[in-house]
Amino acid sequence: MKTEAHYRSKFISKSNIQFVALLVALLSLNHVWNLKTIIGIQIQNGWNKILDRIGDNPFNLYVYSLNVSFLIVYWTIGLAYLLMELSTWPKFIFRRKVQPNVVIDKRKIPSLIRLNLFNQCFVMVPCSIIAGYYSLMNKESAPPVREVPTLLRFVADLMILIPTQEIFVYYTHRMFHHRLLYKWTHKWHHEWTSPVALSAMYNHPLEQLIGNVIPGSIGFLLTNSHFFTQWFWHIWSTVRSLNDHSGYRLFSFPSPVRHDFHHQKSTECFAVWAWGPLDYFHGTDKTFRAKIASGELSH
Ligand SMILES: [Zn+2]
Ligand SMILES: [Zn+2]
Repeated sequence: MKTEAHYRSKFISKSNIQFVALLVALLSLNHVWNLKTIIGIQIQNGWNKILDRIGDNPFNLYVYSLNVSFLIVYWTIGLAYLLMELSTWPKFIFRRKVQPNVVIDKRKIPSLIRLNLFNQCFVMVPCSIIAGYYSLMNKESAPPVREVPTLLRFVADLMILIPTQEIFVYYTHRMFHHRLLYKWTHKWHHEWTSPVALSAMYNHPLEQLIGNVIPGSIGFLLTNSHFFTQWFWHIWSTVRSLNDHSGYRLFSFPSPVRHDFHHQKSTECFAVWAWGPLDYFHGTDKTFRAKIASGELSH
């Protein structure tokens, strides 16, 4: 039997190696981007072409471009997972299912779609309009939209956005598990004890705002990030959240098993990230780690 220490050293070191390798690779490319050599010029030209096509008005970028790209990514991936679940095809993917004996309750699909659309229309869109007006009011202090950020600045911003999101998601998530809030808010999300990708946004609207949108965006106030970075961050967060709720181990990093376990047990694993630093700090993933260590659960 594997010990917890064995698991921890293996898992954390694997994650760390991937993370550090990515960081070193990006930072070593920074001069390339800055010096406008082939990669830098291609990225800058590509960005200019996109802006030539969609326009560079900050309000429109926040309200139209962010929402349209988010909706395309969210529904394409979310519906692909749902169709796969309903059709039980392709077969080999079902070997990667986290809860292989659970079948989706088809009667829940209409309410799943409805609540997703409600949150997108009445939480996400209004928030993007506020962000659009904020960007217009602060146009002078914002980075020039046509000039892509340097790779160093891009990575530095992510180094602030990642822990900021982790901290705000963890504590707001625990707040929504408080008995005074849970029954009329977060319980909706936990109806999915075996989550599917689209349950990522099956949230009470108040939770969607306080537990998802604000934690994912508040870091921008600290970083004054370029729109390019904000766009990347929103798309990445969307894909990560869909993967966390997908119920399939199609990608080992980040693994969806941790958040899937939270949907099953609801007393552990409140964090965003696959290695859950705040869960570790607060001791809210002890059972999960014990199950991984004993082989009862696997990434
Ligand atoms: Zn969830
Ligand atoms: Zn929860």
